[in-house]
Amino acid sequence: SRQEVSYFGAGPAPLPTSVVEAGANAFVNFNDAGLGLGEISHRSPTANKILNDAKANLSALLDIPDNYEILFMQAGGSGEFSAVVQNLVPVWIERRRRKAEADVRKAQPGAEQAEVDELVFQRLQKEIDEELKLDYLVTGSWSLKASQEASRLIGSKYVNVALDARKANGGKFGKIPAEDSWSLTPTKKEGGKGSAFVYFCDNETVDGVEFQQFPKSLEAQGQDAEDERLVVADMSSNFISRKVDVSKYAVIFGGAQKNIGVTGITIAIVRKDLLPPHTATPPPALLHRLDIGGLPGPIVLDYATIAKNNSLYNTLPIFNLWIAGQVMADLMAEFSAQKVSGQEEVANKKAQLIYGALDKFPQVYQVVPDVSVRSRMNICFRVSGGDDAKEKEFIAGAEKRLLQGLKGHRSVGGMRASNYNAVPFENVQKLVKYLEDFATAQ
Ligand code: PMP
Repeated sequence: SRQEVSYFGAGPAPLPTSVVEAGANAFVNFNDAGLGLGEISHRSPTANKILNDAKANLSALLDIPDNYEILFMQAGGSGEFSAVVQNLVPVWIERRRRKAEADVRKAQPGAEQAEVDELVFQRLQKEIDEELKLDYLVTGSWSLKASQEASRLIGSKYVNVALDARKANGGKFGKIPAEDSWSLTPTKKEGGKGSAFVYFCDNETVDGVEFQQFPKSLEAQGQDAEDERLVVADMSSNFISRKVDVSKYAVIFGGAQKNIGVTGITIAIVRKDLLPPHTATPPPALLHRLDIGGLPGPIVLDYATIAKNNSLYNTLPIFNLWIAGQVMADLMAEFSAQKVSGQEEVANKKAQLIYGALDKFPQVYQVVPDVSVRSRMNICFRVSGGDDAKEKEFIAGAEKRLLQGLKGHRSVGGMRASNYNAVPFENVQKLVKYLEDFATAQ
């Protein structure tokens, strides 16, 4: 039964049992209306209420400022790898286009529109060629994938890998080198013009590496757009697990299937001034003519379109949204005034218990990432230095106690205990007991 199994999978991941049980009913006969949530229209009043409640709860949990849009999308975290490029590169282009147009008009006050357009086009083409940069901090396999998607979409010459954390760590992820070693595109204050955005993955699910705080060098350095770094963060695997100062970000995104709900919903929190009418997107005809691959991109990934339609541009999976909404509503009810800080305390405590047990037996367990970047969500470790037989023995012993999902990602091997929000405290205690029993029997 559910009560007997302790599941530590990395995603999809456990959900609160109360939500799963209520979900089973909601799938059959929601609110006694004779229809399930998989069957009702996404434009019905019921769906609208689910959508607005989910927004309100997320907004309250994370203290999301009014100048941000909450978008519910599909296509997962991977879809957002593409979406951020598709949406933020045009913002950069449009800012440059406006500047170029103003300059051209000043230099040639009597010029015809067609002439202005042509001069602007030529200048833009040159600026894109020479100055368009997307900064990526590569600290694990998901940020690596995101940077590869950016390269695939618009070309690797535009992608500046400002940090490849493997380089300073023997070719493997597991550390985040000091910020002064990163090579971010210089801002205006630093003698440059800044990048289109800086991308990082807040918690690397496969490698167990989590940023412990917002990087200092990504703070805005002034009011000028060229002094502000538009920060994009992938929070797929640590969403709503700690307090976040949303105002520091241009875009925060994450798939639901770890801390929030079931697969099929992706949340994007986007600063409104990056959307029209504040920053009009350049005309598609211009984007096509500029010929940067991947732009303007699929409309279902267009933030402006999704925002304008309150996430209902096309059919949104309302059942999946309801699950996410329930999880958020329950967190609000449980922690009330503390909001996400309440969940943060619990998450930290559970992680400390697991790391504590691992650290107690250094001969038997070796935590993979450096102590300075240990993830609270995905706890990666080796058994007996990665000895194959010992690791198999560890897994077999765990399975006997119904401790499941502890195998590390296939690309890195070893063990991974995922400690998402819905992993109950008792299950962590059971894991800790097993870690101690296994180690003392060695
Ligand atoms: N980012 C992170 C941090 C992830 O852990 C994952 C999935 N495990 C993804 C992105 C990709 O998400 P999806 O499978 O929803 O595309």
